Amino acid sequence: MRPEPLYPLFVPLTNLPGIGPRFAKLFEQLAGPKVLDLCWHLPINVIDRRYSPKIGEAEPGRVATLLVRVCEHRPGASRRQPYKVVCEDETGRVELIFFHARPDYLERILPAGKEVAVSGRFELFNHQAQMTHPDHVVKPDEVGQLLRLEPIYPLTAGLPQKTVAKAIRMALRHVPVLPEWLDPVFVQKRNWPSWSDALLQAHNPANSSDVEPGSCARQRLAYDELLANQLALLIVRKAARRTPGKSLKGDGSLRSSVKEALPFSLTRSQAEAVMEIEQDLAKPSRMLRLLQGDVGSGKTVVALLAMLIAVEAGQQAALMAPTEILARQHYETLRPLTAHLGIEVVLLTGKDKAKDRRQTLEAIASGRAAIAVGTHALFQDGVDFSKLAVAVIDEQHRFGVHQRLMLAGKGKDVDVLVMTATPIPRTLMLTAYGDMDTSRLLEKPAGRKPVDTRTLDIERLSEVVDGLRRAVESGAQAYWVCPLVEESETSDLAAVDQRYETLRKVFGDRVGLVHGRMKSAEKDSIMADFKAGSLAVLVATTVIEVGVDVPNATVMVIEHAERFGLSQLHQMRGRVGRGGDQSVCLLLYQKPLGETAHRRLEIMRETEDGFVISEEDLRLRGAGEVLGTRQSGMPSFRVADLTQHDDLLAIARSDAKLIVENDSWMDSKRGAALRTLLYLFERDAAVRYIRSG
Ligand code: ADP
Ligand code: MG
Repeated sequence: MRPEPLYPLFVPLTNLPGIGPRFAKLFEQLAGPKVLDLCWHLPINVIDRRYSPKIGEAEPGRVATLLVRVCEHRPGASRRQPYKVVCEDETGRVELIFFHARPDYLERILPAGKEVAVSGRFELFNHQAQMTHPDHVVKPDEVGQLLRLEPIYPLTAGLPQKTVAKAIRMALRHVPVLPEWLDPVFVQKRNWPSWSDALLQAHNPANSSDVEPGSCARQRLAYDELLANQLALLIVRKAARRTPGKSLKGDGSLRSSVKEALPFSLTRSQAEAVMEIEQDLAKPSRMLRLLQGDVGSGKTVVALLAMLIAVEAGQQAALMAPTEILARQHYETLRPLTAHLGIEVVLLTGKDKAKDRRQTLEAIASGRAAIAVGTHALFQDGVDFSKLAVAVIDEQHRFGVHQRLMLAGKGKDVDVLVMTATPIPRTLMLTAYGDMDTSRLLEKPAGRKPVDTRTLDIERLSEVVDGLRRAVESGAQAYWVCPLVEESETSDLAAVDQRYETLRKVFGDRVGLVHGRMKSAEKDSIMADFKAGSLAVLVATTVIEVGVDVPNATVMVIEHAERFGLSQLHQMRGRVGRGGDQSVCLLLYQKPLGETAHRRLEIMRETEDGFVISEEDLRLRGAGEVLGTRQSGMPSFRVADLTQHDDLLAIARSDAKLIVENDSWMDSKRGAALRTLLYLFERDAAVRYIRSG
């Protein structure tokens, strides 16, 4: 149960005075539905309003707070012209300028003859002192509240700064004093305030460096958040380790038979990954392992060998892919590799005909099917495995891993191997999985040549098309990726359609087009034509990111490469360079190139190492964007910024380890405080595991 002192933070925003249903919606978009969410909405900037000169002495261009007397209102001659309010003090006059003014409102807040305090940017325009749209207009006796550093909050359309600031001030009144959950010696050494003081300080910056991630208040809050994250992971993990699993060994017969039949030998990292998996499975506890490797690094064989351990031990295995196409592709890869083993491999997707489906389900339920390949249909109701022991989840480029693992952490004693083609930066790994077991496929299978990556101005399009024509004449196949246009899906399609038409003029019916809005059957059949070689050029939106294997394709053209993120570019480039032939990747860009876009393209030219690229991606974009956090199942952070606070992450990690290793921690005073911390950061799912073990 949530600790009582936290109650006021977990009430809906509408409990705050002045936030009705209309604003509540906007606030929810901006920060979230609860009072706590507003508390986490930290300022991004600060405006110093303490400068309070006389009109005659004010420095132009500076934010100033002026105490003045209103002389007269001068409405504009037409709607277009600004409304002016002339004010003065003993040193001179200043004009307050308003566009699209509401005269009755202005007359009310700026009554002629009265004194007021105004604050805003002071300017000189043709020697005339002016202030356009003052940020604040208050009565003289309220000037004290103005003369300060004003926090500036990120906004959303429809919510003005003042409204947001006021609501946050109100929300902060609900901030309770909570027991200290950090080690007092550590807090003192760092000179950190308590949690509640840190939060209040973060909202009341005393100078511009106080809104930086390195400020004491923000560090403290970030540390709290990272500690909650690491603690939650370790608690869940400890509980998962306690749940017993099977010890799977197998006699190695199927594995060696497959290895002999392979036309290649395993790379070193493949062999290592297989060995690590064998060791995991042999242990009586459950396996939760992540297999990371770039597209084309050969994860499928590793998965097969892992599944065969279960089969040798008389159990079943399942391989789940994120899409139909990929499930089918896995199935088609595995069938020839397993044909001589005398075991049954079945395919289950959401689209099977009723009769086939019945047969497949029967094979799975009776245990006759040793390996089942499929989409998430595999884990739906009505699918009963008689003895499932190993589940392999091919995530490709999605990040639902965390949730899946949590799911697995609850369920049956199935050993789980998750495969991902997205190299995850080390810091993100730690926050998403803690110290989860991982195997990384570092080298490419032998015989692969590096992809020749070039960047070209889109103005040289006709040269590119000429080059492509020559390549196609000599038998090459090419992908041509068109950009995602942000404004709308329609213009997006227009761009692909247009490129398709231009390329048709050159390549005739040897060009195909696929995009996200096609029916999947239609998409599949075009992909199949490309795979079979009857299409030479495949024009596509990013659908090909989720990977179909066409080893013969050696050319990748990416239009408007400057609009894609680094890992997207990397994933797309991974579609070529899979066979033995030299491949090229042409990144077409449109000028002007921003600094980040320029750097991205440069990195693409410099390296093909997915892990290096993922680290650079994190540096250039920040964690939230790399992961597209909210939908992704990766943890999202309120305060912590993984590109800025990674030193704190390391400390939080060892702190959490010490806490969890000490078995009696939950009964201590600090333990109770730490539980409050978990609730505060909404990591309370973990709390359930504390005692259940
Ligand atoms: P991933 O799933 O990691 O993208 P795949 O498992 O589909 O990669 O492997 C890509 C290609 O590389 C496949 O055609 C596969 O047969 C081949 N391959 C896998 N391992 C090796 C190896 N050790 N040596 C040569 N080719 C390999
Ligand atoms: Mg694969």
